[in-house]
Amino acid sequence: MLAILNYHNVAPVPPGMLLPKLYVSQEQFARQLWWLRRVGLLGVSLSEGVRRLNEGTAAGCVAVTFDDGYADNVVNAAPILREYGYGATCFVVSELIGSYNAWDAERLGGRKPLMTPAQLKTWVDAGFEVGSHTCSHPDMTKLSREAALAELVDSRRALRDLTGLSIATFCYPYGFHNAELAACVGQAGYQIAVTTERGRAHRNDDPLLLPRISVNGSKGLLKFLLRAATPYCDVGRRLKRPPAPRRPPAHQP
Ligand SMILES: [Zn+2]
Repeated sequence: MLAILNYHNVAPVPPGMLLPKLYVSQEQFARQLWWLRRVGLLGVSLSEGVRRLNEGTAAGCVAVTFDDGYADNVVNAAPILREYGYGATCFVVSELIGSYNAWDAERLGGRKPLMTPAQLKTWVDAGFEVGSHTCSHPDMTKLSREAALAELVDSRRALRDLTGLSIATFCYPYGFHNAELAACVGQAGYQIAVTTERGRAHRNDDPLLLPRISVNGSKGLLKFLLRAATPYCDVGRRLKRPPAPRRPPAHQP
């Protein structure tokens, strides 16, 4: 099993910003990584984590992911990640690089700066992974199949051109997903995609619909460790799972 952590901002909460739980301070982030290492967990990129999951060597690993591509990820989080030798994946909105969170700035009451092309290069040069979070951060479940595919294919190509890397991972905006969308994600060439469904990833999960563990900056360290380093988040998952198929009756001679 693999815990895939889901961060957004690593910075102090700007005054008046709604949803402060999306923010983890630099001090909190440093303390969280210290404790992850203390309990024997190595932070890796999503691709690396899933590779290990498939090989059966994910024990002792936790994947670190950041949604949206905020500038604070490279300015504040990257130096701390490097200090620990941890990998990470950042999901970037390709048409909003160097801009701000245009999709929810009004709702949250503030503009949050997104990485510039130079900051994205810094992120990549430090050895961190880049994944796609579409071109424009739409609710993809409301798009036509053609429009959804365009968001997937165009963002993948734009990010590849910008970074020089093959883009293998995808993150559904707002976590909204369905089976048809997952098929489009695969068709667009992605190998791994993450949702905001809660739980640790299992080896037999659909790699295009992996659950994650969101890191809530308003909760304390104990809750963080329970979620990141124990089966705490799997409880709800297990209940949602379909029952195991019944074995066929033994052959009677
Ligand atoms: Zn997002």
